[in-house]
Amino acid sequence: MAIPKFRVAICGGGIAGLTLAIALKRYAPPDSPLHVDIYEGDTEVRTAGAGITIWTRTWGVMRHLGVHEDLARVAVRAAGEAPGSQSDEYRPAFIVRKANQPEEGYTFISVDAPAGSETAHRRDMMDVFLRHIPPAYTLHTSKRLVRYTEVATDSTTGGSLTLHFADGTTAEADVLFGADGIHSTTRTCMYEDAHTRQCVPYSHAENVPSREECPRCAVATPKWTGMCSYRCLIPTEKLYKINPDHTTAGIGAVLCYSGKDNYIATYQVSGGKFLNFVAICRVPGGEGTPYPSKWVVDVSREEVVSKFVGWEPEVQQMLECVENPSRWAIHTVENLPFVVSCSGRVALLGDAMHAMSPNLGGGGGQAIEDAYILGRLLASPHITLADVPTVLQIYERVRLPFVNVVSQCSRDVGLMYEFNAPGYYDGSPITKQDERAQLNVLGDAICKEWECQWTESIDSLWAEAEEMLQPLVTQTY
Ligand SMILES: Cc1cc2nc3c(=O)[nH]c(=O)nc-3n(C[C@H](O)[C@H](O)[C@H](O)COP(=O)(O)OP(=O)(O)OC[C@H]3O[C@@H](n4cnc5c(N)ncnc54)[C@H](O)[C@@H]3O)c2cc1C
Repeated sequence: MAIPKFRVAICGGGIAGLTLAIALKRYAPPDSPLHVDIYEGDTEVRTAGAGITIWTRTWGVMRHLGVHEDLARVAVRAAGEAPGSQSDEYRPAFIVRKANQPEEGYTFISVDAPAGSETAHRRDMMDVFLRHIPPAYTLHTSKRLVRYTEVATDSTTGGSLTLHFADGTTAEADVLFGADGIHSTTRTCMYEDAHTRQCVPYSHAENVPSREECPRCAVATPKWTGMCSYRCLIPTEKLYKINPDHTTAGIGAVLCYSGKDNYIATYQVSGGKFLNFVAICRVPGGEGTPYPSKWVVDVSREEVVSKFVGWEPEVQQMLECVENPSRWAIHTVENLPFVVSCSGRVALLGDAMHAMSPNLGGGGGQAIEDAYILGRLLASPHITLADVPTVLQIYERVRLPFVNVVSQCSRDVGLMYEFNAPGYYDGSPITKQDERAQLNVLGDAICKEWECQWTESIDSLWAEAEEMLQPLVTQTY
């Protein structure tokens, strides 16, 4: 049996964690495998929310990882097209409609994307990922990380990390990846450690700031965006009985109903059986303040309805069909200055690294890209444990600037959908003609923000990473 080159612990069995495991398996040489343990805090692999949109770059990763065909089987896309199609022809992907008026709304921009947009139920997606986890890797459930500790690193022998779980048990690893989402324990430990080592000794303040007050390290704490999202699934049979010509019926793209302060994004999932319904609503003055209650709660249908009084008939028809909605306070973690620990043996990915606003439907796709680049780098032949800190620096240099751009675009485009972007249509009463003209300008700006999702290919990002890796590979020989 081949001796594993080192032991990898992945904290979190969500989109990022499972994709990382698949990428490690896909690229690790058979004669030099990795020992991989996935530690999931929950009793099983679950999903938060229902639908997820999958964009062209993500399909690129899925193809490289050999998951593409299985995922295509559970995805929904524009009529007449096979999901996961390799055609990069531009087609409508995200259609924005002015909807905050009692009369019928109208489309003011159709964002066209290479291969359009495809959507899936998250549960289906996770089941596909789980089927691709190799039997040699162990998925441990009910293992909630509470902290990790590192002993002085001897980069060649390993065994430097101890993971401490909520059930009182521990596990050892050589390398740890925090794929533990927005509440990431890995991120908190990493930033507490870096703050103690790198900020506290150089602080000239009389009262040394805590990590939460530190100008560099405070960003590791999630911030409330001032937005809440209402999420549920709408049975399409029920909706199309009310209105067989409802725009969502044959559109094959994400449809966004826009208005002042609020918007609804909706698309079909589960073979068209349901509409994934996400209503994003602003709480004036909320941004940056502590969220006053539980982040995720079940709410009444009436609460959702109250946010869209006076909106167009199509919106009212969807609201009639809303069942069991929940409210999610949208928090973000943006612009982290680093995502690799001082020792170079711990790194973050997915929402642990960049929990972004959902306005571009991009967080999951970015988590998948992180996992692909990280997994492929780490599994490269000739990479030893001693190389890990350098490999993780390459990962950080390639991924962090990119996700920061996507995160910023996501934030900016959200303000546009809710008519709150500075310098653009703001919903004030004007003539119909001026309204159309201003919405055309806004529509062009929305298209520009979306471009970050497809202007560069995932292959060119990998090429950049591979080039940085080259000196390491050459050194080995
Ligand atoms: C309303 C909304 C709509 C969205 N729509 C889209 C979309 O259409 N397309 C898209 O690409 N993205 C979308 N996103 C973003 C996407 O959901 C996230 O970016 C994605 O789920 C992140 O995956 P992750 O694996 O990093 O984190 P998570 O999905 O949060 O998974 C983290 C995992 O770690 C586990 N965990 C947490 N703490 C611990 C611990 N201490 N120990 C062990 N395990 C732990 C959790 O149980 C979980 O299984 C949306 C987000 C929102 C809020």
